[in-house]
Amino acid sequence: MAKIFCVANQKGGVGKTTTSVNLAAGLAKLEQRVLLVDLDPQGNATMGAGINKASLAASTYHVLLGEAEVTEARQRSEAGRFDVLPANRELAGAEVEMVELDSRERRLKHALAKVDGDYDFILVDCPPALSMLTLNGLCAAHGVIIPMQCEYYALEGLSDLVNTIKKVHANLNTDLKIIGLLRVMFDPRMTLSQQVSAQLEQHFGGKVFKTIIPRNVRLAEAPSYGVPGVSFDPSSKGAQAYIAFGAEMVERIKTM
Ligand code: ATP
Ligand code: MG
Repeated sequence: MAKIFCVANQKGGVGKTTTSVNLAAGLAKLEQRVLLVDLDPQGNATMGAGINKASLAASTYHVLLGEAEVTEARQRSEAGRFDVLPANRELAGAEVEMVELDSRERRLKHALAKVDGDYDFILVDCPPALSMLTLNGLCAAHGVIIPMQCEYYALEGLSDLVNTIKKVHANLNTDLKIIGLLRVMFDPRMTLSQQVSAQLEQHFGGKVFKTIIPRNVRLAEAPSYGVPGVSFDPSSKGAQAYIAFGAEMVERIKTM
């Protein structure tokens, strides 16, 4: 039985995709079987895993609309050694087209149930919105990983996400919980980073992951080569941090 995690934050550019792709590659290095689901029409996770989003025969879009099975649409990231359910701009249309379908917020959940036995982890890279796509992710998941930058505005908007997660938990998916807040793009030389980081620990306690992902240029360079940072430069500080985060997640699921 796979454990399914959404990587979500409705704020844009906070490191969701970088976290999804590199956690997938980090877990693969720890011999975990991983499926990365690209649930964002930007298709950044798809490209970052080395799959060309411009030439997809089947994608997350077709799976959500019931036009393809996950087994038909998934592809292998050779660079990352995990499977990918890829996406591109077409997925934006699903938002509207799903409105007319039955149990529209549970379509991803039902599709993933069929490949549950193939994986240890299924990671869902969500778009920067609390949309029907994100709702599908939240309904399918056992938990949410929230990447956050330790900056002044980081906590703003977090309450909207937490409230959405609470509502989904109450009405649609009683399994759902916040697994943790992940501090990303961390710059230890900045006093503000340290302050916000300490604040997060104070407010959220055990819900803050021990691993901290530093700001690291190798992680930012890797997507242009279609290779996860973890595989692109395994000895870099960023890669090492995501491998450590993978190990923390493997420990975490033992207690779930
Ligand atoms: P969106 O909301 O558009 O989907 P996102 O939350 O998925 O964005 P990313 O695409 O992962 O965010 O990251 C935004 C930018 O920051 C990218 O250019 C990425 O390469 C860079 N970045 C992410 N994490 C790091 C890091 N730890 N160190 C340096 N650069 C990073
Ligand atoms: Mg993204």
